[in-house]
Formats: sequence, structure tokens, C-alpha cells
Amino acid sequence: MQLAAHIATLGTESAFEVLARAQALAARGRPIINLGIGQPDFATPPHIVDAACRALVDGHHGYTPACGIPELREAIAADAARRHGVDVDPDHVVVGPGGKVTLSFAALIFGGPGVEILHPDPGYPIYRSLIEFSGATAVPYPLEAGAPSAAAILSRITPRTRLVIVNSPANPTGGVMSPEEIDALVAGLARHPDVFVLSDEIYSRLVFAPARHTSLLAAEALRERLIVLDGLSKTYAMTGWRLGWGIWPRALVEVATRLAINLYSCVNAAAQRAGVAALTGPQEPIDRMVAAFAARRAVIVDALDRLPGVRCAAPDGAFYAFADITGTGHSARALQDRWLDEIGVATIAGTAFGARGEGHVRFSYANSLDAIRDAVARIDGWLRLHGRHA
Ligand code: PLP
Repeated sequence: MQLAAHIATLGTESAFEVLARAQALAARGRPIINLGIGQPDFATPPHIVDAACRALVDGHHGYTPACGIPELREAIAADAARRHGVDVDPDHVVVGPGGKVTLSFAALIFGGPGVEILHPDPGYPIYRSLIEFSGATAVPYPLEAGAPSAAAILSRITPRTRLVIVNSPANPTGGVMSPEEIDALVAGLARHPDVFVLSDEIYSRLVFAPARHTSLLAAEALRERLIVLDGLSKTYAMTGWRLGWGIWPRALVEVATRLAINLYSCVNAAAQRAGVAALTGPQEPIDRMVAAFAARRAVIVDALDRLPGVRCAAPDGAFYAFADITGTGHSARALQDRWLDEIGVATIAGTAFGARGEGHVRFSYANSLDAIRDAVARIDGWLRLHGRHA
């Protein structure tokens, strides 16, 4: 079989591999607790489900415009305008099947041999995978207190840099960029007018007070070279619906739409109508989910920090705790594998997010308080037998 050479450069997302293994173990009757994949354990709020059912009954069965139905693009623009205090033109919104697709569009638009694209390390593994798949060089930059830092980014820009990916709140650390750091980044980027920015804001609603999310959309100076990635997966407990979007600068809307036509034609019509209901309907269910994540965060961070050899600081956003496990005497990958196989707790090794993730394990706390307490108790028992201090 002769495959195209660049297929070999395609990476993966360990969270899906761990999920498959956890599900296979569970199917064999093992009691598995999943703190691996970043997926809310809540059901999609009923008014959103109703809107999708109604759309199907009302006959919304056909193709839609590739960039999304006008009602959804308007709802997305209005939501972004309301949350970030800026004007957003609905014509700049390109809807896709999940947030992820905006990353592949950006990699296809900017990537290629000889190009450098900056991405966070540790960071969402799909960044590096898609950059390398495009033929470009993936240039990792370290985080500062778990969030992208202006100095780390700006010092790595070269004449070959075309795109910088920032992610706040960040996966896997939960770190949130401060407004000062964002100002420093925007000021520094003024010296690099040809460099575009992709701001992955998929966790922007999942921020815990007193921290606040600042969107790069608020930076007027970046408007013509900023792509904002967002979507419904995490905020509205809609990972399986596959509904996300990019807010593109004027010059790139047409090419992004052409990519949509080539790659998926349009997003499922009923899901798009559900998206309108999500963004324009009652937001109390979302507020309740965020409050639940905040309560779980407090419990998991405290419990992890008490484990022998483990240190865990409270993240400001997302639903991940990124614990330092260096004191256990085990590598991150060994803990990921052994905890799943031996005590049925699914987590993700920090190294799945880049070389700088070594010494850390990511715990998704998108699971119930009971499950979190049970998982940490199992890990406590395991560390007392197998940890450095055993
Ligand atoms: N960006 C980040 C940082 C993520 O963690 C994820 C999902 O885990 C995505 C994008 C993709 O989201 P979606 O499921 O909407 O494609």
C-alpha cells in the first residue's frame, strides 16, 4: 500500500486512545472512573435537545450554506459581542463540525514547508499534529504559570513565523492569560505585522472567579490577523453534536468558506438549529454547570495535593487539574498506564501534551464528586504501595 508521505506526520490525541481502552476495560466488567477525556458528564440542556428535534420534525433535512445558517452566525456574533464587549460581524463567522476544524483550516492556510508555527507546550496535542501535517515546523513555547506568556512567544518569532497559536483557558493546565499578558503580546506583535494569531478560546466560559477570561477579540490592533476558535462542545455539554466555529478576519473568510465547501459542505442542519437555541436560550443551565465544575475543582485540587509525592495548584479555568507527580518516583506515562490497568482510573500523562508535560498528569474533573473522591482514594492506596514514599 502506497500512502502519501505526509500521512506519517499525523499525530493523535491520547485522550481518545485512553477513552477506548477505558471503555474496553469497562465492557469487561471493570469499574472504571474516567478522569481522562475532556468531556462534560452533564447532559445537553433539554431546551437545546428540543430545538434539534423540532428542526428535524419541521423538515430541516437539507444542506445549509457552508459557513452556517444566518441565524446561527448571527447568534455567534451576538454572543461574542456580548461576552467580549466588541463588535463582531456575522459574516466573519464560519461554522464547522466542532472547534477542531478551525485549527485544520488555519494549518492548511498558513502551513507548508519552510514555515514556522508556534504552539504551547504543554498544549492540546492536535496543534502540533496539524502543524506538522501541513509540512510546517512546529515551534513549541513554554507556558508561564500554566498560561501562554508574551515573552516566551515573542522571543521565538522568526522571519519564517506565519502563525502563533494561543490557548486560554489552556488545556491541559487550566491556566488563564491575564489582561496584562495579553496587552504585552499584542504590543509585541505590532513589531511582526505579518504574523497571524489563532486564539483557541473553547474554554472561555469555564473560568473561575476571581480570574476572568480576556478574549483577543478585544485587541483592536490584531483584528485583521486574528482567528478566534470557539464552540459549544465544552460550555454547553455538546461534545458529540460537533458544533464549533471560527471568527475569521475579513481577508480569510472566503478561503475558510471554500475549505468548508471542500471538506464538509455544511454542519448538520438540526445541530445548527440546536446551536441557535443554545446561544439565544436560557443560560442558567450553563451557570449551574460552571458552578459544579468550580465545586469539583476545589475538591480535586485539595485531594490531589494531599497525595504522597503529588503537588497540585488550583487552575483558573477549563476543567483540568495538571498535577506535578515528580515526587512519586514514576514517569507520567507509567502512572497513566498503571492507574488505568491496576486501579481503573483513567488520566492522561502530561507528555501527551508535549515534552514539557513530563512530571505531570492531567485529571479531567468533568466527572461527579463521588467519582472524583473514589478515584483519588484509589490513587492514594496505589501510591502508598508503589510510590517513592511507599
Ligand atoms: N481546543 C482545545 C484546547 C481542546 O481541548 C479541544 C477539545 O478537547 C478542542 C479545541 C476541540 O473541540 P471540539 O470537540 O469542539 O472540536
